[in-house]
Amino acid sequence: MSGHVDAEALVARWREVREAVKQAALSAGRRPEEVRLVAVSKTHPAEAVRILAAAGQHDFGESYVQEALAKKEELRHIGGLRWHFIGGLQTNKAKFVAGAFGLVHSVDSLKLAQALHKRAAAEGTVQDVLVQVNLAGETQKRGAASEAALALVQGVLELPALAPKGLMILPPWDEDPERSRPYFRGLRELRDELQERLSVALPELSMGMTNDFVQAVEEGATLVRVGTRIFGERPPR
Ligand SMILES: *Cc1c(COP(=O)(O)O)cnc(C)c1O
Repeated sequence: MSGHVDAEALVARWREVREAVKQAALSAGRRPEEVRLVAVSKTHPAEAVRILAAAGQHDFGESYVQEALAKKEELRHIGGLRWHFIGGLQTNKAKFVAGAFGLVHSVDSLKLAQALHKRAAAEGTVQDVLVQVNLAGETQKRGAASEAALALVQGVLELPALAPKGLMILPPWDEDPERSRPYFRGLRELRDELQERLSVALPELSMGMTNDFVQAVEEGATLVRVGTRIFGERPPR
């Protein structure tokens, strides 16, 4: 969490990723402004976030509740930061997350949605959320199966202190990024279907990481979550 950050190298890597995201959008006939880069700063020190914020990065993603809240607190004097909670979230920690993050990407059960709602309602805020979907049917991974996603989005729509903005996916790891493409396309198609069946706008598709963000942008990502390629390798946790 501490230690020296090579600011120049960090900003150079961030610029490269930003440029690669932009090029992927342009080559897919999309407007670069449609895709937001979320810099995944988990396990990296607040100092690294401070450096990128000064360079013009606003969206940061975190996965671990305590670490994220400590980092947010350390950087509270920096204006304009948007914090994204992207990690798996246990229901008993929902109360620390609701209202503290601009967007929660990882709502994968109605129970979790209800816990977030309870806290957001108590605080008098509306929490923006994404429903995490698991299209691979991997039982060890989080995310609602595609058949369950409709019921889950419907459930979230009934909770006035939650606002569903779209879908998120974390496909099975594969070193060949082309193997992620069917999941990205599947998520977009599922989003289109849910929008139609529920008559609701779900504009956000959170998909793509260090290894496969180009494919994700080509398939319609509006939020890419990139950690390693910007910040370097994470220490083992
Ligand atoms: C850690 C993490 C990322 C970033 O992964 P990289 O491969 O380092 O870019 C993206 N999304 C989620 C959900 C993560 O937990």
